[in-house]
Amino acid sequence: MSNCAIVGVNWGDEGKGRMVDLLTEDYDIVIRYQGGGNAGHTIVNKYGKFALHLLPSGIFRDGVVNILGNGVALDPENLMNEIDTVAESGVFVTPDKLMISDRASVLLPWHRELDGLEEARLADKKYGSTKQGIAPFYSDKYQKKTILAGELLYPEHLREHLLGILEWKNLTLKNVYGAEEWTWERLEAWLSEYGERIKPYIKDTGAYLRRAQSEGKRVLFEAQLASLRDLDYGIYPYTTSSNTLAAYAPVGCSCPSLKVDEIIGVIKAYSTCVGEGPFTCEWFGEEAEKLREAGSEYGAKTGRPRRVGPLDIVATRYGVQVQAATCVVITKLDVLSYMDKIPVCTHYKLNGEVIDYFPFPSVLPDAEPVIEYMDGWGCDISGVRRWEDLPRAAQEYVLYIEREVGCRVGYVSVGPERESIIIR
Ligand code: GDP
Repeated sequence: MSNCAIVGVNWGDEGKGRMVDLLTEDYDIVIRYQGGGNAGHTIVNKYGKFALHLLPSGIFRDGVVNILGNGVALDPENLMNEIDTVAESGVFVTPDKLMISDRASVLLPWHRELDGLEEARLADKKYGSTKQGIAPFYSDKYQKKTILAGELLYPEHLREHLLGILEWKNLTLKNVYGAEEWTWERLEAWLSEYGERIKPYIKDTGAYLRRAQSEGKRVLFEAQLASLRDLDYGIYPYTTSSNTLAAYAPVGCSCPSLKVDEIIGVIKAYSTCVGEGPFTCEWFGEEAEKLREAGSEYGAKTGRPRRVGPLDIVATRYGVQVQAATCVVITKLDVLSYMDKIPVCTHYKLNGEVIDYFPFPSVLPDAEPVIEYMDGWGCDISGVRRWEDLPRAAQEYVLYIEREVGCRVGYVSVGPERESIIIR
């Protein structure tokens, strides 16, 4: 049976959550393999509207097992708040529905604090962090200065390990930032409030997945953020601190023998970007405001207005290539219905030369967009459910994207609801 990854092709917020929510029907297990509480998937279904940050999107489907793999930034505080929030809408997250890999590293309370302190120190050179502690967390993970979730199940060992980390972390808090030190008592209180609550979910998910694999169960890998925010292949240093690419899924899911057979890359019909960093196609002023309003482009986590602009073919082609997508989805096509002409960035101009490749991050700020226009379709398409019912100009736009990015468009999304989708 085939496994599938749903990944972002652009800067994030492409609508991955709605695709996972739609496709979980066909899968037994949904796994988050990277990232943490710093970005959000928005999902609209019969239970209501939700901004999920850590919970896999399969949490709304009965019979689906959801897993937080070893690659995620496991933030017990965020996770418990989310579990409480979905429970208010009648979605109850029990240990048979959610499993946390015992090998997931834990985001400790000082990571969030350090994120804020560092952004404040950087002042006008800040990275635009959501201040959820992700960068300090991943740097501590790779320095081996945090704990694995499974250690919460061994209290005596845990205390000794954490006392050592606490002593080391206080050196940074005090000497680098002049901040208040953490005491063991304060950390113990945090552990008993949040650590205790996540304990029932912690399992050897690797063993579970190997069994599931031998039984032919189907797995859906859910990514957070997208190609251009990948730590190694994105617009460094304006990336996230983990690998968002599908190629990382087997490593971060807690079962490296799982294969990713299909990679669905999600492309938004126009460009948006949250936070800092070069964004070649950026619009400002009235036309930006109009697009932002039409697409409700405000951050799921922070409520920040997103930067917006036309579809960037150069960046999108690169995004599809690094994801090794086998199929793509175009989302939010309905949002462009108000435009008479649809603008597209077909190339970049760099140092007087017209290029079609995505440049190295250091020179990306020098790139200028080359814009061409396609015909608009001038009508509401949000009720369309079949490809043949899409207006000709909308079909042309989709086919143009397919040709330019070199990957088959398998789905076109025309609204946030589960059923607002055209399957091609
Ligand atoms: P994710 O992190 O990639 O899941 O992206 P977001 O959570 O930011 O999702 C994008 C937003 O667009 C959410 O509010 C979705 O409900 C909404 N959305 C997704 N697909 C469509 C679509 O085809 N049309 C419209 N109008 N909204 C959509």
